[in-house]
Amino acid sequence: MHVEHDAPLAQLTTLRLGGPARRLVTAVTDEEIIATVVEADAAGEPLLVIGGGSNLVIGDAGFDGTVLRVATTGFELSGTRLELAAGEVWADAVRRTVEAGLAGIEFLAGIPGSAGATPVQNVGAYGQEVASTVTEVVAYDRRERATVTLSGAECEFSYRHSRFKAEPERYVVLRVRFALEDAAGLSSPVQYAEVARTLGVEAEQRVELRKAYETVLRLRAGKGMVLDPADHDTWSAGSFFTNPVLDPEQRAAFEARLDGRAAPLYPAPGGCTKTSAAWLIDQAGFTKGYGTGPATLSTKHTLALTNRGAATTADLLALAREIRDGVRAAFGVELVNEPVTVGVAL
Ligand SMILES: Cc1cc2nc3c(=O)[nH]c(=O)nc-3n(C[C@H](O)[C@H](O)[C@H](O)COP(=O)(O)OP(=O)(O)OC[C@H]3O[C@@H](n4cnc5c(N)ncnc54)[C@H](O)[C@@H]3O)c2cc1C
Repeated sequence: MHVEHDAPLAQLTTLRLGGPARRLVTAVTDEEIIATVVEADAAGEPLLVIGGGSNLVIGDAGFDGTVLRVATTGFELSGTRLELAAGEVWADAVRRTVEAGLAGIEFLAGIPGSAGATPVQNVGAYGQEVASTVTEVVAYDRRERATVTLSGAECEFSYRHSRFKAEPERYVVLRVRFALEDAAGLSSPVQYAEVARTLGVEAEQRVELRKAYETVLRLRAGKGMVLDPADHDTWSAGSFFTNPVLDPEQRAAFEARLDGRAAPLYPAPGGCTKTSAAWLIDQAGFTKGYGTGPATLSTKHTLALTNRGAATTADLLALAREIRDGVRAAFGVELVNEPVTVGVAL
C-alpha cells in the first residue's frame, strides 16, 4: 500500500482537473482496499474511491479526506467466464477477451477507466452495456461491514445507472464477473445503426469479432473518445451529459418547441422517450469546438467538454452551466451531468 499526503489529483483524472487529496492511498490488493476503507470509516474520514479518473470532476479545492486509488490487477478467464479485479484497465481487458475469441464486451472497446467502475454507471456504448454480461459483483459493503456478492439483478442496472450509483457511499467494488459468449469467432449481434452502416451489415447481424472491435475503436477515435495525451479533445470525462429521458408530458412539451425540426426520439422503458443530448446541444447553438476559454467543447464531439491545457474545474463548470441553461431555454429540457462531481455541483 502506498500512502501520500497533499497529493495532486488532477494527474489522476482524464480531465486533468482537481485540487489535492489530503491523503492518497494506492491499494494493490483487495485486503489493502478493505483495510483503507475500514480505517477511514472508523475515523469518520471522508472517502473517495478512484479508478481511472475518467468519469470524475473534482473541485479545484481538492478532497479533504482519503482518496483510495484502486490499483489491483487480475484477469481470470475460465471458458466463457471472466473475472476482473477492480483495478484492471478496462480497455486492455476488452482487447484480451477479443484476442481469446469471446464476444459480449467487444463494442465497449476503448472506454477508459477501470473494470471496477464499469458496473457503477453501467458503462455502455454502441448498443452494448455491461448490464447484459455482468453476472456478479464482489464488493465491500461499508454499511454491513462485510464483503458481499451481488448478482447482476441485484446490481439494479438501468441506463447509466445502478445500485452502486444510487448508494454512492455504500459499496467499493473489488471484482466483477462476466459471462461472455463463444460465438465461433463472431461478435454479438450488431445493435447500433452507425456500426452496422460502417460494417455494411444489417442490425442484428453478427460480424467477425476482431472487425467489430477494430471498427468501434476507429469510430471512437474519430470522435476523440479514445485517450490520447497529445490530443486535447480527449482531455475530457467522455460524454458530459446523459441523454434525457422524457415522460409523455415532457415529450409533448418538447415536441411543441421543435418548430418542425426532427429531433431523435427513441422508446425508453416505462412509456418514456429518450432523446439525444448531443442533438439538443448542437441545435441550441453549441456546436463542436464551442468556447473561447481554456475549457471548450471537443472539436470532434458535441457531448465532450474538454480542458485545452490550462483550465480549472471552475472554467469547465462555467461552460457546462452555459450549455445546460442554453438547452433549457431553447427546448425546456434539463440536461444532467454524467460524470460524478466531487466537492462541486453543476
Ligand atoms: C474519452 C472518454 C470516453 C468515454 N466513453 C464512455 C462510453 O463510451 N461509455 C461510458 O459509459 N462511459 C464512457 N466514459 C466514462 C468513463 O470512462 C466510464 O464511466 C468509466 O467506467 C469510469 O471508470 P474509472 O475507473 O475512470 O472511474 P472513476 O472516474 O475513477 O470513478 C467514477 C465513479 O466510480 C466510482 N468508482 C470507481 N471505482 C470504483 C470501485 N472500485 N468501487 C466503487 N466505486 C468506484 C468513483 O468513486 C466515482 O464515483 C468515457 C470517458 C472518457 C474520458
